Amino acid sequence: MKLSVPFIPDEGYARFLTRHASSLSSIYFALPSGPITDARVRIAQGLVPETRDLSTTLSSLKAIDKYILMNTRFMPPGVYANNTILSGILDDIARLDKKFGIKGIVLSDMYLLQALDQTEHDIVPCLELVPGINAMQDTPEKLFSFFELLGFSRFKKPTRIIPDRALNRNPEKLALLSKAVKTYDPDIRIELLANEGCIYQCPFKLSHDAHISLSNTGLARESTFRMNQNLGCQAYFNLSPHAFLKSPFIRPGDIHHYQGIADGIKLCGRTRGVRFLKTCIRAYVKRCFDGNLLDLMDTPEILARQWHIDNTRLGAQFFTTLTSCTKRCKPCKICSKIFSQASWKKEIGFKSYKEFQ
Ligand code: SF4
Repeated sequence: MKLSVPFIPDEGYARFLTRHASSLSSIYFALPSGPITDARVRIAQGLVPETRDLSTTLSSLKAIDKYILMNTRFMPPGVYANNTILSGILDDIARLDKKFGIKGIVLSDMYLLQALDQTEHDIVPCLELVPGINAMQDTPEKLFSFFELLGFSRFKKPTRIIPDRALNRNPEKLALLSKAVKTYDPDIRIELLANEGCIYQCPFKLSHDAHISLSNTGLARESTFRMNQNLGCQAYFNLSPHAFLKSPFIRPGDIHHYQGIADGIKLCGRTRGVRFLKTCIRAYVKRCFDGNLLDLMDTPEILARQWHIDNTRLGAQFFTTLTSCTKRCKPCKICSKIFSQASWKKEIGFKSYKEFQ
């Protein structure tokens, strides 16, 4: 199963991806200019590539499919009716397409889809529209509703979809979705997000996405990091670190379980830097990892600083156990038992400067 991975405009990373080109299905990145259209929180400078950097680094990856991330939950309301801004976004995509070839955009906000289409920009019929992971497609009905609406636009049908991450832990439901998609169009690839590390069926998810989009409008200060620490997922994992095992990640060594129902693996973590991404890509290409499982996960960074979960000690039965249980955890002690056998609390330490590079 090939990988779809984030792209960061770093020359060393571009060389690394070129060396692994035979394992890659696609790369994706946010637009380098214009209004923010992707779903990532801005907590540090340099998260969005600059055009100059893209030019020097993308040229060696011409043969790999490229997608623009426009997966914000929403845009400032005025943008939907502002033809100048919307056409400017599409002009930027058209320029990138001319230089490097852009296969499509990844999008979760259907209002934005309609607004972009209504510009009548020439690039629209050249772009696939891929529903983002935050569109949370978890049933054939939801997906076909998306396809129906997409059919009224000039965008192309996607050649890949990423089902909601929760299906990673429900192979029967995933197989049903996969069968429905392949019956509809056998050429659509199904990719599974493997390393997000969020709470299973996260009850904070929609509010979290909305708060990120709100702060990206510039109308409110970014506060999701603090909210998650005090009230959200980090607070929950602090109380119940073993609950992380329920998170719908896919370990590198468990990919084979999805053979026949999925076609590829998607990795995230573009704000975690080059070193993190290289570690993830190596592990998922080799399909094994003997380090701290949390070091492969995008979101539970604080948990990773506190805990070491020895991936090899989780055992060969891990996949079967976690995909066949009821997920009604109160009376069940299984995750807490596996966690105590495979994990230990780390000494509190500071990150070395190099880790931030
Ligand atoms: S039901 Fe048991 S095995 Fe399943 S996620 Fe909950 S604690 Fe883990």
